[in-house]
Amino acid sequence: MVAAKRIVMVGIPGVGKTSLVNVIVERIRASGRTIQVKSFGSAMLEEAERIGIHDRDALRCLPTNEQEDLQRTAAERIAAEECDIVIIDTHAFISTTSGYYPGLPENILHIIKPTNYVSVSAKPEEIYNRRMNDPTRHRDMVTMNVIKQEMDLQAAMISACSVVSGSPVKPVVNREGRLDETANDVIRALGL
Ligand code: ATP
Ligand code: MG
Repeated sequence: MVAAKRIVMVGIPGVGKTSLVNVIVERIRASGRTIQVKSFGSAMLEEAERIGIHDRDALRCLPTNEQEDLQRTAAERIAAEECDIVIIDTHAFISTTSGYYPGLPENILHIIKPTNYVSVSAKPEEIYNRRMNDPTRHRDMVTMNVIKQEMDLQAAMISACSVVSGSPVKPVVNREGRLDETANDVIRALGL
């Protein structure tokens, strides 16, 4: 049986999705339910390793047709997950050399069939600082203006996904130092 709730969480790099998901998972597991987190990037990287790519930040530099193949096989694996809740940690779009590529094109939505979307945002200056202060990742350098544009694009992309799936979007703001509060907001809104 596939998961009853298939929650897609999107946010631009550094907004705090992974940190937020970790808090949510801890709370759900404490309540005795089964929950799986699938990082779309990691699932794609597992597929990419078969063709010799080992750096997750190199994925977005592949030709878009190769990214598409990796995306589809990763989605099929995620959709087969058997538990009460699956959270898919991903991006509404990916910056590629050809422009912004949808993280969730229609064919992927038909495979995953999300029941809910969570659209994570934060103040642009906080996102900027979180990116700069995270030495574990190879993040693209950007300006504050680009971060603002990316958040507008995220809202547009996720609205389109919501219409295709007929599933609601919960916007949340991940305020500095308030991860617990943001996690509670998601748990309450989605009835987790
Ligand atoms: P990516 O899309 O690149 O995986 P992400 O959205 O998953 O990024 P995280 O890796 O969760 O982002 O967080 C980026 C950095 O911001 C981390 O160093 C994390 O500790 C910090 N961070 C996340 N949320 C908050 C918060 N509410 N307050 C302060 N720091 C935060
Ligand atoms: Mg992350």
